[in-house]
Amino acid sequence: MSEQVVIIGAGVIGITTALELQRRGHSVLVLDRDGVASQTSAGNAGAFAFPEVEPLATPGIMRKAPKWLLDPLGPLSIPPSYAPKIAPWMYRFWRASRPSRYADLLDAQARLMQVSSSALERLIPAVEGEAMMQRDGQMQLYESEAEFRISLPAWDQRRAHGIEFELLETREAIAEKQPSLSPRFTHAGFTPNWMNTIDPKTWVQHLAKAFSDRQGRIETRGVRALTPLENGTRITLEDGTLDAAKVIVAAGAWSHHLAQTLGDHIPLETERGYNTTLPPGAFDLRMHLTFSGHGFVASRINGGVRIGGAVELGGLSLPPNFKRAETLLNKAAQFMPGLNTQGGTQWMGFRPSLPDSIPVIGPSPNAPDVIYAFGHGHLGLTQSAGTAELVGALLDGTQPPISMNPYSATRF
Ligand SMILES: Cc1cc2nc3c(=O)[nH]c(=O)nc-3n(C[C@H](O)[C@H](O)[C@H](O)COP(=O)(O)OP(=O)(O)OC[C@H]3O[C@@H](n4cnc5c(N)ncnc54)[C@H](O)[C@@H]3O)c2cc1C
Repeated sequence: MSEQVVIIGAGVIGITTALELQRRGHSVLVLDRDGVASQTSAGNAGAFAFPEVEPLATPGIMRKAPKWLLDPLGPLSIPPSYAPKIAPWMYRFWRASRPSRYADLLDAQARLMQVSSSALERLIPAVEGEAMMQRDGQMQLYESEAEFRISLPAWDQRRAHGIEFELLETREAIAEKQPSLSPRFTHAGFTPNWMNTIDPKTWVQHLAKAFSDRQGRIETRGVRALTPLENGTRITLEDGTLDAAKVIVAAGAWSHHLAQTLGDHIPLETERGYNTTLPPGAFDLRMHLTFSGHGFVASRINGGVRIGGAVELGGLSLPPNFKRAETLLNKAAQFMPGLNTQGGTQWMGFRPSLPDSIPVIGPSPNAPDVIYAFGHGHLGLTQSAGTAELVGALLDGTQPPISMNPYSATRF
């Protein structure tokens, strides 16, 4: 049987794209080996972090990395057995952080954020999703005047990209927005246009239901390989084959395995992240908090509090090290006095990360009927609605609202 459009992956990227392609009149089948929101899109911090336009590979970051790596439970870690495997990715990451390249990447990230923010505002009413949003903004916290000063160039970059913010330079100003924090936080930056969903998993399930209610099909089936045909693509499944006119690969941190079957070598790695979700009543959290110097955040999830972050460059198969989640929770208890750390649930997820912090959104170099939509790293939820609209334009052959060159799969 031949399908019109098959999307591989039912995470936030695959499902948001499925809804958009359906809206454009396509008949869409989504395949996922584990079902809707079964991986990274289930447990993230739930932030639509539109003000976060700075790519991770910032100039000077490689000077900070050795200090972070010295602490095995610090914000960045590389399990020794994975170090040789991650070295080529790290080299590309370093190249992306050079000032000349960084400026272009910042611009690409900012454009994708703009497209994504306006696309999300179209999507929310279309799926009656406003009740699932928390529009409280975000506060980025600093522990000294010196740390705050170091952050100022990044705030200048945000200003240059039209991002609204307020800088807070006293403990009192911080307490007005978020009471009961440790007095160690002396300065902060507040971004009002940052949003959170009440729960990222529920959000994707809600989108999946809207898609299914409009005759969209989602099947729990694993994909092994893709083969270009004269017209379309053959999909080799774990339980058979399927031909499709167009295929979208939105398989998160596993996408490069499928790209490889087409002969495309894309340097996708995973930045594993950890968190603990505490039940309602754990803390009176008023908004998303970012503890800048410590690589973790606190967000409100289903009335409770999720404490999470960290980057572990450890690949897809090593077992999780939940000491990382415990370390973050212990730090959070110091930063948020009174935080009730009992009754939490731990989680680890695989951020799909390209070395230049920018996703791949565009056709496979070896198979023009296959479109890639993966590699969103720390920002997949944030950039999901924009990615969906861009894939829609590529599929229909219409002019995307931004140049697609920075997101091309041929850039590596
Ligand atoms: C701790 C942490 C916090 C985060 N916080 C945020 C945040 O606040 N805001 C934000 O924007 N982003 C955040 N992220 C990043 C975000 O979660 C990811 O970028 C996003 O979930 C990626 O979505 P995806 O759809 O590409 O991948 P996934 O959600 O991983 O979905 C990929 C799907 O593909 C399926 N799949 C894979 N291979 C195959 C195959 N061969 N056949 C069939 N199915 C397959 C998988 O089963 C999976 O369901 C965070 C990540 C972590 C780890």
